Amino acid sequence: MERRSFMRSAGLAGVLAAGAAPAVVRAQANIRWRLASSFPKSLDTLFGGAEVFARRVGDMSGGRFQISVHAGGELMPALGVVDGVQSATVEMAHTAPYYFFGKDETFAIGCAIPFGLNSRQMTAWMLEGNGLKLMREFYAQYNIINLPGGNTGAQMGGWYRKEVKSVADLKGLKMRIGGFAGRVIERLGGVPQNLPGGEIYQALEKGTIDAAEWVGPYDDLKLGFHKVAPIYHYPGWWEGGPQLDFFINAKAWSGLTSDYKSMLEAAAAHAHVDMQAKYDARNPAALKQLVAQKTQLVPFPKPVLDAAHKASMEIYAELNGRNPNWKKVYADYARFLRDQNLWFRFTEARFDGYMQSLSL
Ligand code: CA
Repeated sequence: MERRSFMRSAGLAGVLAAGAAPAVVRAQANIRWRLASSFPKSLDTLFGGAEVFARRVGDMSGGRFQISVHAGGELMPALGVVDGVQSATVEMAHTAPYYFFGKDETFAIGCAIPFGLNSRQMTAWMLEGNGLKLMREFYAQYNIINLPGGNTGAQMGGWYRKEVKSVADLKGLKMRIGGFAGRVIERLGGVPQNLPGGEIYQALEKGTIDAAEWVGPYDDLKLGFHKVAPIYHYPGWWEGGPQLDFFINAKAWSGLTSDYKSMLEAAAAHAHVDMQAKYDARNPAALKQLVAQKTQLVPFPKPVLDAAHKASMEIYAELNGRNPNWKKVYADYARFLRDQNLWFRFTEARFDGYMQSLSL
């Protein structure tokens, strides 16, 4: 019997019974996928996260599984990657899910919402809480399977031409702000803009916007915002620990053998840890460089944080009333956040507080 027709007639069970499983694995040789990133090539942290992932998959598969990584705008707009994966234009993407809150606010919970989980807590919710399960149920509506793919840690509050001294200073402020937090800025009187990373500098330089937040010292220094706006506020209360995700087309994913799925999962887990490590290791030197170049570090006044917190809670309550997807995922997220804060206020916060009280 010719081998192909044998496999067709016997099916997988027959092949396994005949002890031919390795042949089935080899039948998936030489896969080529394309990954659309939402980030510019200049960012070795964010864009680099997808490269770390792709390289790992290539290594683990002995070169049989190749994933080409494409910068935002190369194959599709930086903020068009969910459509790209949903419609299988590309097999996968690497992005910050909150960019897509306009489709459904629930996307934001899988990334960061104002006054939410920090980086470690987010990973705990994903891996040991119900985060991954709930987000996958949600992303299934978009033919997407997600794998956590990095975290920046708590971000800075961005670059401002003029210092924000009170809530009133947010009135009319045209600000580039990533994703869902724009809703809060809007409620405080600002005018949010959801520009991709590659377009912010020009808008800030031209004065099309008054302020812009991106990530933190390491990335922001590369993008050069300090040259056009001197005030660097902190903290980024809207991003205590934003998670990046690999979004994979569900059909492309289900077409993989279990060994390839395991490789993608392992490579993503590596990229996830690697990104946070890069940020933590590289931010201090960049911060020193920024300060040496006359950047003024200014904390947001507490009344601004309080007003933003209040506005955020109002928005979450409204969403609970009108978005069933949000309501389901947020209920679990909020419960997890409460417990994390209960625990972190003991050793983590006390330890950090003491360490920060030491002279440098
Ligand atoms: Ca940001």
